[in-house]
Amino acid sequence: MSASRGRVCVVGSFMMDLVVSAPRRPRPGETLVGTSFAQYVGGKGFNQAVAASRAGAATSFVGRLGDDLFGAEFRAALRTDGIDDGGVLDDAEGGTGVGLPVVEPGGQNSIIIVPRANLRLTPADVERSRERIEAADVLLLQLEVPVEASLAAARIARGAGTAVVLNPAPYAPLPPELVAACDLLVPNEHELAGLAGAPVPADGPEAVEVLARDVLGRHGVSLVVTMGATGVLVLAADGASSLVPGRTVEAVDTVGAGDTFCGNLGARLAVGDALTDAVAYANAAASIAVTRHGGAPSAPEADEVEAVRR
Ligand code: ADP
Repeated sequence: MSASRGRVCVVGSFMMDLVVSAPRRPRPGETLVGTSFAQYVGGKGFNQAVAASRAGAATSFVGRLGDDLFGAEFRAALRTDGIDDGGVLDDAEGGTGVGLPVVEPGGQNSIIIVPRANLRLTPADVERSRERIEAADVLLLQLEVPVEASLAAARIARGAGTAVVLNPAPYAPLPPELVAACDLLVPNEHELAGLAGAPVPADGPEAVEVLARDVLGRHGVSLVVTMGATGVLVLAADGASSLVPGRTVEAVDTVGAGDTFCGNLGARLAVGDALTDAVAYANAAASIAVTRHGGAPSAPEADEVEAVRR
């Protein structure tokens, strides 16, 4: 492993998760007494930045927070994890993004997301952070901020030789210009199906590889497809494929597993790891995260990942 730190810039989202446990969802007009409440800092962008920083990358963030208590909490959390927040703007009109999950007995959960300030991130905001993106080795993108902002960031990165890694989540149809500006797409199986315009593949890496080859054929971009406990399919732009098997662990909470994976992948690509080596590292990191509760809080430090890889 290289001793020098890679540089990762995340252009993405913040969501404060306000999690309620209840016997069931209330019916229309009904007030129901819940059984517990918890608040967690989250959002795909934030989770990926925390994971990248813990993996050892010098990490910067470009995004929008509300000028409110949740926003202050996120700023403190960014600083606790040593993430450069100079590209994070306070939005006086849109509040901080929130997620409102209701967890029913048995773990079944349903969620309402209100992105708020995240949806107000503009290409001009991104332009103001041009130097952060140009200085990075890897730019990490997801789909919880406006696609125009992501596209602006990807174009700056391309011009500077910064590798562009897009986690197309939550899946939405992508403008071809954005895909063309990416070096690597990191979907899970559901997002891969969206990219291919096909049904979710039957279990098994073979069906996933058929879809991944279809996406590669159309867009000419490398793919890393996460498949939960099964592992990860790597399909390089030259057509070479490999399977990194999942690690056998006792999973207690897979929320944010994909985010931990992407943050670690970005951090390892940023120090110059070959794609399959970076994937093996990220696979180990995500397998640790699923043994713990929470999204960002479950992301491991680099020494923990190295310990399980020994
Ligand atoms: P997402 O969270 O986006 O749905 P996945 O479920 O594919 O993504 O998980 C991302 C990665 O997390 C996997 O590729 C794997 O490395 C790890 N992972 C997820 N679930 C498990 C599990 N049950 N056991 C071991 N590793 C897991």
